[in-house]
Amino acid sequence: EPLVIAIDGPSGSGKSSVSRAVARSLGVGYLDTGAMYRALTWWCLERGIDLTDQDAVARASRELPLELGTDPASPGVTVDGTAIDTAIRESRISEAVSHVATNLQVRADMQHRQRALIARIALAQGGVVAEGRDITTVVAPDAEVRVLLTASEEARLARRSKELHGDAGAAAVEATRAQVVHRDARDSTVSQFIVAADGVTTVDTSDLDFEQSVEAVLAVVAA
Ligand code: C5P
Repeated sequence: EPLVIAIDGPSGSGKSSVSRAVARSLGVGYLDTGAMYRALTWWCLERGIDLTDQDAVARASRELPLELGTDPASPGVTVDGTAIDTAIRESRISEAVSHVATNLQVRADMQHRQRALIARIALAQGGVVAEGRDITTVVAPDAEVRVLLTASEEARLARRSKELHGDAGAAAVEATRAQVVHRDARDSTVSQFIVAADGVTTVDTSDLDFEQSVEAVLAVVAA
């Protein structure tokens, strides 16, 4: 049986880097579901689709020519032949992605794609680490290992700020605060990650560095 590991958490919990490191350490594949919502957002903006037009965005989701790399060392994201790894991390995408992620037709379509991808990657690579917001609860509730990564708001802001601005200090943290708090609020309409669902193990990374966070998740896998 290939191992399926589901990891959910808010931005700044260390979810992406920890998930990739866990996949590398176990030698299994990797699926970044947030990248799928980001790729769809990028594609809609590229084609001038009004993000509030629910049917048009849902149609774009069904037609999205998306290719996802599943190697945790370099998980490339390609739409219609264009590499968009860097573009989908831009703040214009982070600002807009919740329009797409709160579209229920889009979610149904993405969840369907994600279940198929998880099964395919797990089979091909002996296992998979799938990360997102609803993987432990909706996409893969039957996963062998389910982890909710959390961190205090201050810890999440500090990490996000460092990601966006480098070590720029307190001013940068404040500049990031409004953006992150705002996105969390919008995301909370589609995902509840304050409390872990039944059978999901919470790993609080507030006081853990990167290596310790990876070790903590690997310990859950080994348990
Ligand atoms: O994880 P990341 O920050 O890249 O996710 C981008 C956005 O995609 C999130 O802010 C959220 O709105 C959405 N998302 C989601 N469900 C997932 C993964 C991401 O709604 N499983």
